[in-house]
Amino acid sequence: MHIPFVDLHIQYLSIKKEIDAAINDVIRNSSFIKGNHVLDFEKAFAKKHDIKHCIGVGNGTDAIYIVLKMLGIGEGDEVITTALSWISTSEAISQTGAKPVFVDIEKDYFTISVLKINEKINSRTKAILPVHLYGQCARIDEIKKICEKNNLFLIEDCAQAHFAEHNKQKAGTSGIASTFSFFPGKNLGAYGDGGAIITNDDELAIKCRMYANHGALEKHKHQIEGINSRLDGIHAAILNVKLKYIDKWNNNRLKNALHYNKLLSGIPEIKIPQIRENAKHIFHIYCIRAEKRDELKNFLLKNKVDAAIHYPTALPLLPAYKRFNFIDSDYPVASGYTQKILSLPMFPELSKKQIEFVASLIKKFYHS
Ligand SMILES: *Cc1c(COP(=O)(O)O)cnc(C)c1O
Repeated sequence: MHIPFVDLHIQYLSIKKEIDAAINDVIRNSSFIKGNHVLDFEKAFAKKHDIKHCIGVGNGTDAIYIVLKMLGIGEGDEVITTALSWISTSEAISQTGAKPVFVDIEKDYFTISVLKINEKINSRTKAILPVHLYGQCARIDEIKKICEKNNLFLIEDCAQAHFAEHNKQKAGTSGIASTFSFFPGKNLGAYGDGGAIITNDDELAIKCRMYANHGALEKHKHQIEGINSRLDGIHAAILNVKLKYIDKWNNNRLKNALHYNKLLSGIPEIKIPQIRENAKHIFHIYCIRAEKRDELKNFLLKNKVDAAIHYPTALPLLPAYKRFNFIDSDYPVASGYTQKILSLPMFPELSKKQIEFVASLIKKFYHS
């Protein structure tokens, strides 16, 4: 039995009629750039977050870059972020000319360590950019308090956390603005690159929309020089269909994760992912920590179970950041975890049988 890491095709088949009709509608109306599908999706995505504005953009990396840039962040500024994420988070900070300042992660939950944020704040710090990694929110209430106390912008990277919750508060609704990715493999995925910004700030919303569209709100009226980063009509039409199912899919992911947890909890060589109190974890990634991780990964791959590592290297220790000369001991939790973390297959349509097969292989590997 081959178990893929994600199965996008099985999801397409479950909503094929609606998706095909939506794509056909875009083609029939030639609404490839802008148009009603994009407007409809922006409205629906904002409404579902109970937020005033949504701006569709080209991808989740641009979304972060655009927000930072439109908040005036650039050369000479610092933005605090987590040591464990996909490189987009820190890449977008550097793109503005600002310096990414990495903070180690907290134990068990993989998100930025709130306790270690304060020591990194100085007069150049302009913003904190937490990532709700793997589908679980960072300690957003505490981070918000730190931002308020130090007069810093709070921007949430929600690329892995569409409709995750913390204390009944949706991911992306605590700061000045939040960013999303609709990369096909994300919980809410388009059929290519896509992203969005959400914000309650009227002025910031206009600026972001303008910057993402060559600095113009109306054709040929370029107020500033911008970039070309728009959500395509075809992706917006697909996302409009998928938005109706996202809660169901997120719930199925959680169910699958709890089933994994139950089956794997008795294995001493494994640490199962922890769910915070009062949290809705949407399990973009189901990440365990395992002894003999690399051997276990190879054993699973040999048995046609696709396991992966998110991420093999903590951000500050990547060659891309060798200019900072960081060493492992600067980020002990993140660098330690990168030797142990292993992501198991996770998608809404994953069956109980498939989960049981993966768990039985892991038990076999450890003879437990
Ligand atoms: C996927 C991802 C992004 C960027 O998304 P793209 O749409 O691929 O540019 C940003 N941050 C995190 C944490 C991600 O996982």
